[in-house]
Amino acid sequence: MRTHVFYNLPESACYGCQACAQICPVGAIEMLNNREGFLYPKINSTKCIECNLCEKTCPTQENVVNPLFHTLPKDVQAAWNINFEDRLTSTSGGIFYVLGRKWIENGGIVYGVDFDDHLNVVHTRVNNIAGLQRLRGSKYVQSDITGILQQVKDDLKNGLKVLFSGTPCQVGGLRTFLKKDYENLVCVDLVCHGTPSPLIFKEHISFIQNKTNQKIIDYKFRGKEKTGWRAYIKYIYPDGKSEKKIWGNDFFAYSFYKSRFNRKSCFSCGFSRSERVGDITLSDFWNAEKYYKPLRLQRKYGFNLIMCNNQKGQNLLRKISSDIESITLPVDVAIKGDVRLRHSEPIPPERDSIFEEFYLHGYEWLTKNRCIRHSWRNKIIPIFIKNLIYEIKARI
Ligand SMILES: Cc1cc2nc3c(=O)[nH]c(=O)nc-3n(C[C@H](O)[C@H](O)[C@H](O)COP(=O)(O)OP(=O)(O)OC[C@H]3O[C@@H](n4cnc5c(N)ncnc54)[C@H](O)[C@@H]3O)c2cc1C
Ligand code: SF4
Ligand code: SF4
Ligand code: SF4
Repeated sequence: MRTHVFYNLPESACYGCQACAQICPVGAIEMLNNREGFLYPKINSTKCIECNLCEKTCPTQENVVNPLFHTLPKDVQAAWNINFEDRLTSTSGGIFYVLGRKWIENGGIVYGVDFDDHLNVVHTRVNNIAGLQRLRGSKYVQSDITGILQQVKDDLKNGLKVLFSGTPCQVGGLRTFLKKDYENLVCVDLVCHGTPSPLIFKEHISFIQNKTNQKIIDYKFRGKEKTGWRAYIKYIYPDGKSEKKIWGNDFFAYSFYKSRFNRKSCFSCGFSRSERVGDITLSDFWNAEKYYKPLRLQRKYGFNLIMCNNQKGQNLLRKISSDIESITLPVDVAIKGDVRLRHSEPIPPERDSIFEEFYLHGYEWLTKNRCIRHSWRNKIIPIFIKNLIYEIKARI
């Protein structure tokens, strides 16, 4: 009898995309939290009818996932939203928001990631601009996608136009779950560094709340208003006041940067490659200014990489062309610029021991003993001076 999804799949390979759990015809698969706080499928062997649908749907299986990848485009775009406010409130250049707005204005539905009332990171469905605004900004935590794949399928079958955004493994899971392409579906995948543990993020929020004696009602991973693209973390309190921390001074953000709390599958991720599963791929466009110098002036407020991976992607990009500025560059520039378009992250040496230390000593102990050691330069040069130096260099 089966106890895990299928006998040859190690836990470390499972993306947690939930395609298996949501496709099982008899509801035999439950998603349960493991010790690190990530959801994994568990089969109830008394319910299972051995139909193998879970294995046939799982994007870890090469024969299942390989047909999903699109041919690499020759060119890509460095692009940003011409509405400055929208650009500022987004992570990179605010392209996701333009795509979503156009989609909703044309009567479509957008799926993306928001915080719920308890700051859990969840996939959600929106059909209006207020909802779309909540999806803006990267939440660097694995989102809970429970029930969403079936909801997307229902929308598609009801003839609604769906724009689905997520990590590549979530887009992959959706596409294997759907089994076929739908004319009325466009998928946006992000170039993905990995997703940290929801459990550790919860501990982080409790830690800050206990320290400040205030409830946090919203959280921004990449605030840009004050320091431009050299982003900071922002905790927002019920009275509307907020606190800002540079990444190096926020233990969770620093650990994300070091990939310490990522799901194990992120270190052997089959989606960390240049051929993509999304119709459109979005990310920051790293190092683009090396190849096209005028882009240095755009770095301060961020700009996107846009990869249109098929005709659907190109059609959508055409629809937003009057709302964005863009520069076309060869795809190699993007691939050279971001390691996640070539292969997955190496596992950091402390990845497993830090979870053990968390269980032994607690989160607060980690923040004191496993935090960043600032160099003297980081300590004494304020961020606005660094920005100023960058801007002067950009204009030379
Ligand atoms: C976990 C994660 C890791 C990333 N790693 C990289 C990287 O290594 N290199 C890189 O260049 N870019 C990375 N990105 C992408 C980058 O942060 C921006 O999301 C992207 O450039 C889009 O920016 P934007 O300004 O167009 O839109 P934004 O307004 O920032 O777009 C937000 C979009 O991200 C989605 N989203 C937010 N949080 C999550 C989440 N937890 N899971 C799934 N989808 C989410 C929203 O639904 C929305 O579609 C990552 C994003 C995430 C969420
Ligand atoms: S990768 Fe997705 S489909 Fe495969 S076992 Fe994990 S949750 Fe299930
Ligand atoms: S083999 Fe079929 S019934 Fe059993 S868990 Fe997988 S999908 Fe469900
Ligand atoms: S790195 Fe890969 S496995 Fe990890 S969240 Fe991103 S796409 Fe999924």
